[in-house]
Amino acid sequence: MKYIFVTGGVVSSLGKGLAAASIGTLLEHCGLDVTMQKFDPYLNIDPGTMSPYQHGEVYVLNDGTETDLDLGHYERFVHCELTKLNNLTSGKVFEQVLGKERKGEYLGKTVQYIPHVTDEIKQRLRDLTEANKECDVIITEIGGTVGDIEGYLFLEALRQFALEVGRQNCCFIHVTLLPYIKAAGETKTKPTQQSVAKLREIGIQPDIIVCRTELDNLTEEEKIKIGMFCNVPTDHVVAFRDVQHSIYECPLDLGRDGVDRIVTQVLGITVPKPRMDEWQKFVARVIYPSHSVRIAVVGKYISLQDAYKSIYESFTHAGAANDCRVEILRVDADSLEHEKCEEVIGEVDGILVPGGFGTRGIEGKIKAVRYAREKNIPFLGICLGMQVAVIEFARNVLGKKEANSTEFTPDTPDPVICLQEEQKHIENMGATMRLGAFPAHIRPGTLCSKLYNGQEIVSERHRHRYEFNAAYRSECEKAGMVFSAVNDEHGLVEVVELPNLDHFIACQYHPEFQSRPTAPHPLFQGLVAAALNHRQR
Ligand code: GLN
Repeated sequence: MKYIFVTGGVVSSLGKGLAAASIGTLLEHCGLDVTMQKFDPYLNIDPGTMSPYQHGEVYVLNDGTETDLDLGHYERFVHCELTKLNNLTSGKVFEQVLGKERKGEYLGKTVQYIPHVTDEIKQRLRDLTEANKECDVIITEIGGTVGDIEGYLFLEALRQFALEVGRQNCCFIHVTLLPYIKAAGETKTKPTQQSVAKLREIGIQPDIIVCRTELDNLTEEEKIKIGMFCNVPTDHVVAFRDVQHSIYECPLDLGRDGVDRIVTQVLGITVPKPRMDEWQKFVARVIYPSHSVRIAVVGKYISLQDAYKSIYESFTHAGAANDCRVEILRVDADSLEHEKCEEVIGEVDGILVPGGFGTRGIEGKIKAVRYAREKNIPFLGICLGMQVAVIEFARNVLGKKEANSTEFTPDTPDPVICLQEEQKHIENMGATMRLGAFPAHIRPGTLCSKLYNGQEIVSERHRHRYEFNAAYRSECEKAGMVFSAVNDEHGLVEVVELPNLDHFIACQYHPEFQSRPTAPHPLFQGLVAAALNHRQR
């Protein structure tokens, strides 16, 4: 196994995750089998309990692990299926160390940061290696910035690990910022020199410096200077430019500078050049489509770029497949409560209500669903989006004016969405939702069945506590709602639709976690196609 470690220098939000994922894409297209891992130095056990304001979207894996959104990039950029072994936080490391201490597993020793905490981190790399024997390369990204107190133990563990598996089997890539000072007309290399000095203080000499720059390129002098001060050959200094249109250009951009060649050289492996033609075609379809549609996303965290990351990416994939640009109108559910739908979403070709938690914005989302239903605008509801679609239907079609979810009104007379018995007695908030992949059984002859191409069972990822209340099922059915996919084993509703409309469908699961660049998710594909029809009409 070969190992690539990606660290970050100077500032956060450099696109380190994207750089790591892009290197994964390039190596995969050279014919290597790649998997990816993220180390997050914060103390939460996982990001599942964090607000999107803190950490953007929580990305869910098939096995139910709640992870950092970078794992979403990994799964979209590389054909690997990730598991709980692929994301490790300091919280998890300490939980394990302290658990062992309580069990007496350290046999009377003083438990210390080095070696016990660092051993636990290295063990995770070994476990991942063991679980991915068929892989050639593991790329591990270390969250945060070199110099952070919290990241120190991870870096120390990597230093030891490289010594143990052989330095020749490891490639350290440092992604850093080269600020451009406009007034002086100069690119500054000092912060990069200093952050590399920090790494070398720990005993890690990076092999490659990836420089994030807003300029078109690095000059030869800049490369020589960075190479000399950071102690790497000049041609191991590469530029990571702002891409113009789409993040999917990143692998192509890094490939232009031959990052794959440099990495494989460092690791001592010989591979053919990456064959990026298919990827290139996909990117061209993203950048130069023939059509365009406008879709409103009515959510609570709309001002945040990262809160609905996978949803926005899914639209890019579905857009490319439909030769169409999906222009997203971000609508704040909270404000929609006090606005006229005609004025805000009167011109859109489709409406999506995403997942969410808590009461804020609920009434605005219900209003958006009502508008979609009454005006026959293509609609997709996801998770909370399905729950509000059911609430809207109960209120305005069944006439149950106070229908609600017990999440928002615990004593509602019509709890059309409620907790399952097994969720009622849970006290811990972390990792206790219905999480990960579960099968959904699709009823033939429905829109859902058509979108999934006639498949009868599909596997989709979940992250929710509340469910459709089966007591209201027959009443809803009589009024025209179709329950087009159900989890047969537990009798839980997975998909609802309204067949009297052109395209109105909502699911309890999160389709956005399984959409891939060249394999868009059927529900996004369907919404974009329906929006295109709507526009053309
Ligand atoms: N808050 C809802 C629940 O817990 C929906 C969750 C979500 O949209 N992910 O069931």
